[in-house]
Amino acid sequence: MEPPLDYDFLAPGRIVFGWGRRREVGALAAELGRRAWIVRGSRTLKRQGLIEEIGQTLRAARVEPIELETLSREPEVADVDRASAELIDRGAAPGDLLLAVGGGAAIDLAKAVAAMVTNRHGATVRDFLEGVGRGLALVEAPLPVLAMPTTAGAGAEATKNAVISSFDPPFKKSLRDPRLVPRIALVDPELTVSVPRAITAASGMDAITQLIESFISRKARPIPRALAVQGLAMALESLPEAVDRPESRPAREKMAHAALLSGVCLANAGLGLAHGVAAALGVHCRVPHGAACAVMLPVALRVNREACRAELALLARQTLRPCPTGSDDDAVEGLIARIARLAETIGAPRRLAELGVARERLPAIAADSRGSSMSGNPVDVSDDRLLAVLEAAL
Ligand SMILES: [Zn+2]
Repeated sequence: MEPPLDYDFLAPGRIVFGWGRRREVGALAAELGRRAWIVRGSRTLKRQGLIEEIGQTLRAARVEPIELETLSREPEVADVDRASAELIDRGAAPGDLLLAVGGGAAIDLAKAVAAMVTNRHGATVRDFLEGVGRGLALVEAPLPVLAMPTTAGAGAEATKNAVISSFDPPFKKSLRDPRLVPRIALVDPELTVSVPRAITAASGMDAITQLIESFISRKARPIPRALAVQGLAMALESLPEAVDRPESRPAREKMAHAALLSGVCLANAGLGLAHGVAAALGVHCRVPHGAACAVMLPVALRVNREACRAELALLARQTLRPCPTGSDDDAVEGLIARIARLAETIGAPRRLAELGVARERLPAIAADSRGSSMSGNPVDVSDDRLLAVLEAAL
């Protein structure tokens, strides 16, 4: 059944996209505040030159940079609580902004902290997470966030949620609010040139999964669908080159653009089975998100292909070159085969066992796959079916 044509569409207040445009960060930050709390990922640390350059640009624009500790993994409840307490201690207040420089983990940490600094009616960020906390909602607007992604994949620079993990008890849940969408997304594809091969491959597969899952989601809507077509065509064309020739400007530009669009799409249309399972794989087996998506995307396509044949055929015809001729079934098969070939070409993992997942963990993974992402999956998947699907992917 088609969803009613009645929806909101959210996107960053301003998208600044282009090679080398990180140099504009000072002027952009000055539009949002006078002090910038800088949250950065670990890889950025290795590029001290970048942080110094950003600091100088900020000071030149009369914005005071304040560096925070770095985080080398996806953020956990304790990370958010600790960073929020530090900001509050050090006097963060309205008029400040969060500047996130890094992959999806750093950007999500910045978003969560931006919200916790102004919303002190919860004891911990867990109180605000979907399904696991006290169900508190944000009251006050978060501090504004300026997001500068350094990987091309998660699209966190365009989303309204921050994904927060816990390992005891195991969960990976979102803090979600339309006001968490970064006010400015400053996407400089040149920042992705130094991303290692395996991370380029895994984050690229994440973007592709987000584009496809949002296109067939129960919550699919016309604007994000149009963007998903554009993003998927770019990603299919350019991911192998971005992996093989890291310095390729056209490939890095197209992947950064596809990732940005994938974030806009998921923020407005939700996701599906691959992302539902990826969250559980993350907290039960510490599988990195992109690698989990690479394995689960073909699985999710097979589960959904019958229910979404027309949509997937449309997506195949709009994104594959040469354009598939023949029946809808043939077009869908062409898309699935293309993705399998792509994953093989870029050396992405294909089986759960390669990711260190043991058979005895599968029931718990299946049980914990039922979060917000799974609710967007176009077909309902029973526990037994999901377990069988995971076993087949082992
Ligand atoms: Zn993802």
